[in-house]
Parts: sequence; structure tokens; C-alpha cells
Amino acid sequence: MNNFPSVFEAISDLSKDQIEGLLILAKKYKDRSYDKSDFTNRIPIVANSFLENSTRTKNSFAIAIKKLGCHYLDFNTETSSLKKGESLEETLLTLYSQGVDLCIIRTSVSHHFSEFKNNAPIKIINGGDGTNQHPTQALLDLFTMTELGIDLEGKTMAIIGDCVHSRVGHSLMELLPLFGCKIILCGPSGFVPESSDNDSIEISNDLESTVKRCDFLYTLRIQKERHSGTDQTKHYETYHDKYGLNKERLEKWNKNVPVFHPGPANIGIEISSDLMKSNLYKGYDQVVNSIHMRMAIITSILSNNDKNIGIIDGQRIRD
Ligand code: ASP
Repeated sequence: MNNFPSVFEAISDLSKDQIEGLLILAKKYKDRSYDKSDFTNRIPIVANSFLENSTRTKNSFAIAIKKLGCHYLDFNTETSSLKKGESLEETLLTLYSQGVDLCIIRTSVSHHFSEFKNNAPIKIINGGDGTNQHPTQALLDLFTMTELGIDLEGKTMAIIGDCVHSRVGHSLMELLPLFGCKIILCGPSGFVPESSDNDSIEISNDLESTVKRCDFLYTLRIQKERHSGTDQTKHYETYHDKYGLNKERLEKWNKNVPVFHPGPANIGIEISSDLMKSNLYKGYDQVVNSIHMRMAIITSILSNNDKNIGIIDGQRIRD
């Protein structure tokens, strides 16, 4: 896709037209009306580098890469020279020199890729950076919503849980308002911001009144790994009683609405097992659609014709 960013870090890197283009391409992949990409000159090499744990994102990228017919490199960061203190930039330039075209990276450092935006050592897709962004998750969520026939214009969605520390939440807050969707961030203080200066985003500490106003719900895992040294831990014990979603609650509040979750879920905390086993739960649809949306994103970045990659002192390291 022309002008698709070579370092895709955040939803704000894309125009609405580009996002709509991704939805169309993902749909074609899903309907198999589009064959795997036609790599005429050379088959691209795509690396998956996860510097933080992952089940869904890493595997879905791996499957998407293989379905597209690209060569796949599982770049094991635990056994790489990153552990000897090599910088991320040096590591990426090395991968690029070896012929890798694109690297999907997850890191615990927020904004880790911003420094590469004007001088990309390799093409990069953000697979989640700290608490900042998880743009491919939000895009696959949007794709899932469209697949379920949800028209976002004029609708309201709650994001329930640890919105402050969730990169998924941050990406959704940028993405869904572009399509006319209002968002209510709901959770205890410390999990939601105190206020919002964005007209499309409201803040609430009350689950019942929030859920009753919403057309669909998105619930988040408590990001315990990001709470050390904070007083957020005080919410853990009472969390399900105050903010957990379960079937009984939704029935009592007369809400027969789709419930999304990016996974992994902590069952019995933010969501009950009975709700996850019901047809309201859309977590598995999100996983299914993740492959097609990630195929669309990979194709778009690989085909952006950007020649300004891997430049050292004015010279490209390789063709
Ligand atoms: N899998 C998502 C992420 O990597 C959500 C989560 O971990 O809670 O951000």
C-alpha cells in the first residue's frame, strides 16, 4: 500500500483511508478471494521478535507470514546478542544486512520504535510496546466488529478495566472514534484516567450505569506486571465484585450485547467462565480474524516501495 509507514508504531501513523484499505484487504484474505501475495522478484523474509511473552500475537503473525508465502524467521531474543548488551538498532541493522525485510517486535519499553521513524534500520510492525500501543490488536478488533455487522457510527463501547496500563486500550481509544464510536473508560481510580479532554471519551467508576449505556463491551486484563511500586494492587481482591463481567450481571441489566477481550483472560477476575462460554463472548472471533488483518498489514508494509531503509552514512546496506 502506497505511503504505508515503514515503522508502524501507532494507530495515528495511519490515515482513515489506509485503515479502510486494510479492512478491505483483510476481508479478501478471509474470503480467500485473494491469493497469497505475488512476490515476483524475491520472497520476503519476515522475522518475529518478541521481547515479552505472547501466545496470540506471536502465533497469529507467524501464521499470517506463512500463509502469505514469506520466509519466516523466529528471532529468539532470549538467545540473541541483545542479551549481551547489543542495542536494538544494531540488532535490526544486522537482521536487515542478512536479508530480513520486516521485523515484528514486541517490547516492554513504551515508544521503543519512535527513534527509528526517520531512519528505519528495517521495516517494523509494533507487536505491542510497553503501555503505549498495540495497533494490530485494535485493527483486528475493528475488523471483527465489522465482520459481526456492527456499525460503529453513533454507538458507545465501554472499555472496562486497567485502561491506564493497557496498550490495547490506548490503540482502541485512537481507532474507534475515527469511525464515530464513543468510548466510556470504566474502572477504579488508578485504572482509568481522572479526566479526558477528548470529546469521544468519557470516564466512569461505575460499572452498572456504564454497561447499561453501551452497545457493546470490551474488557481488559489487569496489567499486574506494570503495577510494581504503585498502589493499584489494592483493587485486586474486590475487582470481580465491582468490575467483573458475568452472565448473571448482564442478564440482570438486560444487556444482550457482544463482549470483546484481547486475551489472555484472567477467568473469574475481569470475566467469568460462563460468559466466556456464551455466544456473547467474541474473543475467539478476534483470534480468527487476527490472521487476516495481520496478513493485510504485512502485505501493506512490504509493498510500500520505501527505499529509505537500512541507510548508513547515506548508503543502503543492501539492495
Ligand atoms: N495481549 C494483549 C497485550 O499484549 C493484552 C494483554 O496482555 O492484556 O497487550
